[in-house]
Amino acid sequence: MSEVQLRVGDARQRDVGRGIARIDQRTMQKLGISAGDVIEIVGKRTTSAIAWPAYSEDQNRDMIRIDGFTRKNAGVAINEYVIVRPAKVKEALNVTLAPVDMRLNVDEDFTNFVKNRLMERTLVEGDTTLVMMLGHAIPFVVTKTRPHGIVKVTAETRLTILSEPAPEGKGVPRTTYEDIGGLHEEIQRVREMVELPLRHPELFQRLGIEPPKGVLLHGPPGCGKTLLARAVATESEANFITIKGPEVFSKWVGESEKAIREVFRKARMAAPAVIFFDEIDSLVPRRGLGFADSGVTERVISQLLTEMDGIVTLEDVVVIAATNRPDIVDPAVLRPGRFDRLIYVPEPDEKSRLQIFKIYTKGMPLAKDVSLENLVALTKNYSGADIEALCREAAMQALRRDVNAKEVTMKDFEEALKRIGPSITPDMEKWYKSFMQQVRQVQKPATPVA
Ligand code: ADP
Repeated sequence: MSEVQLRVGDARQRDVGRGIARIDQRTMQKLGISAGDVIEIVGKRTTSAIAWPAYSEDQNRDMIRIDGFTRKNAGVAINEYVIVRPAKVKEALNVTLAPVDMRLNVDEDFTNFVKNRLMERTLVEGDTTLVMMLGHAIPFVVTKTRPHGIVKVTAETRLTILSEPAPEGKGVPRTTYEDIGGLHEEIQRVREMVELPLRHPELFQRLGIEPPKGVLLHGPPGCGKTLLARAVATESEANFITIKGPEVFSKWVGESEKAIREVFRKARMAAPAVIFFDEIDSLVPRRGLGFADSGVTERVISQLLTEMDGIVTLEDVVVIAATNRPDIVDPAVLRPGRFDRLIYVPEPDEKSRLQIFKIYTKGMPLAKDVSLENLVALTKNYSGADIEALCREAAMQALRRDVNAKEVTMKDFEEALKRIGPSITPDMEKWYKSFMQQVRQVQKPATPVA
């Protein structure tokens, strides 16, 4: 049987969640298939997708474009290689699905609804698959199929939906790079600093380069720092261990250092892992700012530094931290060997806002008069989180206008704009840039040339 080896590329936004793989004409010929046929994609895992014509600029490049879910199902990352061959698809007799990170109330109506959405889709045991519901993509893990292999859901298939999340799906971050609007350069940098060392520790060893231990993401709130950290963990197939700065003090009263030790211990056990400290400024505030309380802050800072310094041999744990207030983070934490890589996550520009609108209106029935370009022009200084809230509010507005509304109109968005304003102020960017410059100047003499 014919098969080909193809390099994996990411999917365009509009292809995400459709279970399609874009491959070019030449490849389809080699495989003896045409658009719409099911293919088997083999990486570290095996999954399936529907072959779809490549974009014109991708012709003759021996590549396959698949979304983050399909990549995860195939166990591959962008730029890795997969084997692709025509799939042998069997009709599914039984399929069992489990939700990923929520409990569901399952009844017959719901099961039939999901079954309809999955009709003609192909599934493999262990896949995570998306089902669109009311404009939202809900992920399910395929926990069991009969027969095994690549199966297709038909009218005859008996579908069972569990109400409890599948254990292996628990805590698995499922954010992929396609969930992020804009931030292309930032994604690229995080991939180099985090994904590459986690995936290929041997390369770093051979080249004698020390991979970064800590990356600090900073920038205005709601612009994708957490999203970026989650996505890089998913795409590196690493476990994601997250802890919010304020939690350490509230949940672990009197035992804050222990919380830090615990996080690192958990990460070592679950390696490869990404530890994510959200709101790190509240965890390790600059000393002498009046935050210090009976020495707890001091002890937490020194515990964190000890743990970071202790991860010399550790090539499979990376620490990412995020803050909106890099200026109040204790400078000791930013020294070489600690959080010495700074990435600024900026507010979205027009192009990024358009992508973010596309992400959050995907699957939303939009009236013809809705122009995303106009919305982009109306949302200067809106963060990604603001745009998400705006889209949700517009949908709510449509329902308030008419409970049976079939579409969200431009008027609904205009109403939403009145309620949801921008959370970023114009001088924020300048402020972050000047902070970056200060840190660079301080760091320069100490940082060896990489
Ligand atoms: P922060 O920078 O404060 O860590 P988050 O990443 O937590 O911000 O963003 C909050 C939410 O806003 C995200 O969960 C996501 O839904 C949305 N969001 C923010 N930035 C983006 C973006 N660039 N693309 C898509 N969604 C975004």
